[in-house]
Amino acid sequence: MKTGVIAGVAALMLAMASPVLAQEQPAWSLAIHGGAGVIERGSLSPEQDAAYRAALDGALQIGAEVLDNGGSALDAVEAVIQVLEDDPLFNAGRGAVFTADGRIEHDAAIMDGTTRNAGAVAGLTRTRHPISAARAVMENSPHVFLIGQGAETFARDQGLEEVDPAFFFTERRWRGLVRQLEREGLPVPARPAGAPAEVAMAAIAPPLDERKFGTVGVVALDREGRLAAGTSTGGMSGKRWGRVGDVPVIGAGTYASNVEGCAVSATGSGEYFIRATVARDICARYAWEVSYPESEENRAMAVEDACPSDMACPGPRQPVHVAASEEIGEVGDMGGEGGVIVMTARGQAWFEMNTSGMYRGRVAEGGNRLVAIYADEDD
Ligand code: ASP
Repeated sequence: MKTGVIAGVAALMLAMASPVLAQEQPAWSLAIHGGAGVIERGSLSPEQDAAYRAALDGALQIGAEVLDNGGSALDAVEAVIQVLEDDPLFNAGRGAVFTADGRIEHDAAIMDGTTRNAGAVAGLTRTRHPISAARAVMENSPHVFLIGQGAETFARDQGLEEVDPAFFFTERRWRGLVRQLEREGLPVPARPAGAPAEVAMAAIAPPLDERKFGTVGVVALDREGRLAAGTSTGGMSGKRWGRVGDVPVIGAGTYASNVEGCAVSATGSGEYFIRATVARDICARYAWEVSYPESEENRAMAVEDACPSDMACPGPRQPVHVAASEEIGEVGDMGGEGGVIVMTARGQAWFEMNTSGMYRGRVAEGGNRLVAIYADEDD
């Protein structure tokens, strides 16, 4: 996080020295997350740490290829999330957490910043790629949000791949649920039908943990200046069946708008992110003329940030790091925890969290891929 501030200050100094350099921004930019939560240094073995970093790096590489080849922000968001949904390390698609009654229910959303069209699904149990179902809702239906059986039938009619629910099963998440329910004195459901034979604890890699987060999300800016955001999740471990979190609620866990010049994907305790309308609020803070602490640095950065090349200048806006940190601060004040990734129309990626870690990464045209896990790591 600190590097972002330093980069912002450096950009401002360059802006004062050279108006030409001030206009420079990457042609495309991408940021991803794989969930926020209690991820302390030392809580992951070197192998687990490396496995997460490799997964994030591989996902960034896929998105970078799409964007570098002129693909749309929406295509990049969908392609990257599909990869993360198939990776059992993350709580989305394969590897999703279980409901209290031992099922897996997926939520996902996608939003196109240029049209502010959006699609969302909740409670899917068989669609392999919930993010693609969300995109199909956005592009091929007059609706924004489909749930449960209706969403699943729609996805099937759209020709999207269906799998047996056992496809999503992972021993690690199952053991996590069992431990959680036992600790809370709640009944433990039967092992799901079709689940593979139980494996020894030692064979579970990464080993059992009870972190509830692990949602995946992507924000992107493409060569045409289009922004998009997408998020996909199994939700919270031990949730009631039928519970829907913030991820598919447009404006809470997912939001993109070229009018506001901002795209956001969130992860964390979804109920709080819904109540604080986090994703839209960050974009609103970023886009609207607002009062903020009379710090010279903030004021200067706000002015610097005010005019993405393709937009009118509505006036000084909150710098993206202030918008994100104040919003996550509000979530924390309410009792919630988690984080966000933010992309601006200038291609500036920002990460904010009030947890000890968030799996995350970013890459932009002409730059290196960067991944980070712990909150105090440079990003
Ligand atoms: N926000 C998700 C939910 O509440 C959980 C997560 O981010 O891990 O469903």
